[in-house]
Amino acid sequence: MTSPPTAELHLHIEGTIEPAAVIEMGARNGVGLPVESLEELEAKYAFTDLQSFLDLHYANLTVLRTEQDFFELATGYLDRARVANVRRAEIFFDPQTHLGNGVPIEAVMAGLTGALDESERTHGISTDLIMCFLRDRGAAAADEMLTAILPFRDRIIGVGLDSTEIGFPPELFADVYARAAAEDLHLVAHAGEEGGPETVIAALDVLHVGRVDHGIRSIEDPALVRRLVEDQVPLTVCPLSNVALRAVDTLADHPLPALLDAGVLVTVNSDDPPYFGGYVDANYAALHTGLGMDVEALERLALNSFDAAFIDGARRAAWQQEVRTHFAAHRG
Ligand SMILES: [Zn+2]
Repeated sequence: MTSPPTAELHLHIEGTIEPAAVIEMGARNGVGLPVESLEELEAKYAFTDLQSFLDLHYANLTVLRTEQDFFELATGYLDRARVANVRRAEIFFDPQTHLGNGVPIEAVMAGLTGALDESERTHGISTDLIMCFLRDRGAAAADEMLTAILPFRDRIIGVGLDSTEIGFPPELFADVYARAAAEDLHLVAHAGEEGGPETVIAALDVLHVGRVDHGIRSIEDPALVRRLVEDQVPLTVCPLSNVALRAVDTLADHPLPALLDAGVLVTVNSDDPPYFGGYVDANYAALHTGLGMDVEALERLALNSFDAAFIDGARRAAWQQEVRTHFAAHRG
């Protein structure tokens, strides 16, 4: 079955860098890497938890130096997302990482927007950017980052919160989220991936997010599940990521089907695809063949992705009609 038309709402552009690009950009930019070969680098793609992934992720990102690097990074994602039938992508980026590596914000923005501004014409994919704060850099650094991005306010649609979850609860970021809200930015945050359901509740109550990234541990709190259903708060779930980082033991243990059955507005996404075993099409395929979810459930998930997207009603209706047509053809 071809993957359904979908909106991808949880995708870190830095997390789409392929191992071969790490080697190539490292050589091009004269950035020394702790590995000698592509094979040696690829052997490191095995993780025990979120932090073990982040350690490799941040080491790889030291190769991104120039506007051209960021242009190629975004173009590489678009090439692959087109194959995965992505119609709309709301893409996370982490400028604090690059500023910390000595890359000017202007180069990051020019490279990313140079690729994404043309994405509808070049790839048939509507795109926007969501800037994420790195929670492990703390609240003061987040506040400085928000100030630094405001000259580019019209190039982003929202802010998010990612990186190490344990030890950096949502409460730390209440003030910077209030500032972002005053700028009319959409608000999202990672929560309930490694942290418990209380982190999802804090993201809702303290940060006032409109969408929760991951949020899978909400399943542990029935009252929270009822609230997510009642308020139709979307969860951007990344099944293969959760297996790769041991947030769940196996795909069979994944709470996505139970959350969907309960009526939560669950969506399917790829997070950092080359690290976790596949793009969004591979995630849909895993739910179908690995978890046995039927086509009705997959159709619901694809429709949900457009309900959860920050788009206008006309585009939502058009894309959801594409989803229905796709599944009608599949049922034959
Ligand atoms: Zn993520």
